[in-house]
Amino acid sequence: MNSARHFALCFFGPIIMGAFYCAAVGLMWDWLDRHNISPLVTMLVGCLVVAIATRWFLRNMVAVTCPFCGGKSYEIQGRGNRFMCVTCGKDH
Ligand SMILES: [Zn+2]
Repeated sequence: MNSARHFALCFFGPIIMGAFYCAAVGLMWDWLDRHNISPLVTMLVGCLVVAIATRWFLRNMVAVTCPFCGGKSYEIQGRGNRFMCVTCGKDH
């Protein structure tokens, strides 16, 4: 995977997962209502949690191919779209 595709995945991934979650809550709306759980709060809070969790997962688990050695690189914390290679140590 290259860094541009990784960037797109980090951007759209959480949105897509959040949308899926909202759709799931929408399907369970009546069930939640009957069990005295506010569906709106569940949707808003859960959507945020799902989006953050997805972004964390993509940042930490999905590797970008290093352009120098072909090894695995992961995003540097606090630096958007910069990746550090775990094989050769270069950032790109
Ligand atoms: Zn490398």
